[in-house]
Formats: sequence, structure tokens, C-alpha cells
Amino acid sequence: MAGRIVILGVFVADTAYRAARQPRMGETILGRSFALGPGGKGSNQAVAAARAGGDAHIVTKLGRDTFAEMALATWREAGVTPAVTQDAGSYTGAAFIFVDEASGDNAIIVAPGAAGTLTPADVEAQAALLEGAAVFVTQLEQPMPAAIRALEIARAAGVRTILNPAPAAPLEDATLALCDMVTPNESEAEALTGIAVETLEDAARAADALIARGAGAAVITLGARGVLVHDRSRSVQLPAFEVGPVVETTGAGDAFTGAFSTALAEGRDLVEAARFGCAAASISVTRPGAAASMPTRAEIDALLG
Ligand code: ADP
Repeated sequence: MAGRIVILGVFVADTAYRAARQPRMGETILGRSFALGPGGKGSNQAVAAARAGGDAHIVTKLGRDTFAEMALATWREAGVTPAVTQDAGSYTGAAFIFVDEASGDNAIIVAPGAAGTLTPADVEAQAALLEGAAVFVTQLEQPMPAAIRALEIARAAGVRTILNPAPAAPLEDATLALCDMVTPNESEAEALTGIAVETLEDAARAADALIARGAGAAVITLGARGVLVHDRSRSVQLPAFEVGPVVETTGAGDAFTGAFSTALAEGRDLVEAARFGCAAASISVTRPGAAASMPTRAEIDALLG
């Protein structure tokens, strides 16, 4: 019996521009194409969790505008249950995404809008939802005090806690100590530990540093090299799956964390859950968009065989 997954995070409308390169200051260049779609790490992770078969709930704040309608429609279609307040005096978050047309790599500016005003009191208003979860997930796009309060409530209720420390920001040891698992990518692991993550050995050292600072386990995503699952008793590298040409890596980390949460909520072991997340993320990079690229349960199961 799968348990509830509660995700505290941010929705933003992604405005994605594909171009040969980024413009220099003062310069205007012509892009190859434009796409508008749902994004935000918290929302993407909730969509990834739900499409992977999880009972996903999102706690966040929106404005009362066109992009809020996009958020609610996105969650309805994906099967995510919103626990959301709407603030008419603010706006729904939006993001500028530059996509390199040759490599598919991206560079992003996020304006979180109403979700940027999430407070510990907003989180406490959802305490019952949080306490009834099997897995709680958050990131660092909303204010840190709200994330910390939610981690405290979840931890006190015995809920498994996952922090995807993105975008990178300094963290207190006390915050890491509230996390059963952290899921940084290579650059976020480096920002948190000061260890440049280039080799697998570097990743293992960074994971040890995160555990020494209080995290229960570190699951470091390594792009095309897959993921390193590292806790006090094991260090296992799971390769990415070769599904097809890489189209766009936006949301790859979110696909991983979302699907990983679904597998954990089903009671799977850490390594098995990471393999499931890795399969979902490997599919997501072969498609354009962030939320739109999240695979279904049937697609993930078919890849895992
Ligand atoms: P982020 O999107 O946070 O930067 P990563 O780049 O580490 O995260 O990617 C997250 C996951 O997405 C990886 O662990 C892997 O499973 C998958 N992935 C990323 N890039 C590729 C790729 N080029 N080929 C296959 N899978 C990939």
C-alpha cells in the first residue's frame, strides 16, 4: 500500500527560449524557438511523483492570475492534489530558461512570486497533511524558514524527509540533520561541501561530508553518469539509462527526486528507489519541457523490465 507524498515547493511558468548562445549585456539575438509550460522544482517533482504512480500533494502559494490557472490545470491533469492558497496581491512565479540548442543544457532565472512569501505559519496550517505522509519532499526555491518548519513537522511525525537542495544555498548542519535523504546534483553537492565533484570518488567524499554534517543519506545525481547512492553502510553508483538522444535536461533532477519519492512511498529500498528515479529521469531528458517530460508509470516500468 503506497503512502502519501507531500511536496512543499514552488510552481513557476517556464518561458523557455532555445538559441545558439546567450545574449551579451545590451545585445539582442534571434532565438530558434519559444515554449511556455509549467515548471518550478516543487511542482515538477509533484508531477513526476504523480505520473510515476504516487499519491502526490503539493503545498504552495500562487497568485490569482493566468499562470495560477496553468498550475491548477497541470496538477489536475497529472493527478497532483493541491494544498494551495492564492494571493491576489502577488503573482504566480515565472522563470526565464535559456536552452542551448546544441547541447540541451540550460541557464535559468526564477521569480517565485507568491510562493516566495511562504512562511512557517503557512506550513503549520498544513500540519495534518504533512503528518499523515509517508514521504515529505522540499527544495530551496521557497523561503528557508518554511522549508525548515516543514522538515521539523515531518521529522517529529516520523515521516521520511527528502531535501533536494536546489537551487544551491548555504544550509545549517541542524537543517541537514532534519533530512533522511538529500538529493543534490554535482554542483549543488560542491556548493554544500566545498568538494568539486568530478569523479565518483569526489561524489563519495561529498556524500560523506553531507552525512557528517547530519544528513541520513546522500543521493547525488551525476547527469549522464546516473546517480550515487551513499549512506553509512554502502556507496552504489547506478548508471543512467540510454533511452535515446538527449533533447533537454530541464527538470531531469526533478524527474529523479519525484519518481524516487514515489518508490520510497511504496516501501522500496533506497537503492531500488534510486534506480526507479534514475529510469524516470533518463526518459525525461529525451523530451522537451520540464513537467511535460515526466514519464508515466507504464513507461518507467517498461524501461526497468
Ligand atoms: P539536474 O537536472 O538537477 O542538474 P542531473 O543533471 O544530475 O540533475 O540529472 C538528474 C538525472 O537525470 C541523472 O541522475 C540521470 O538519471 C538523468 N540524466 C541527466 N542527464 C542525462 C543524460 N544525458 N542521459 C541520461 N540520463 C540523464
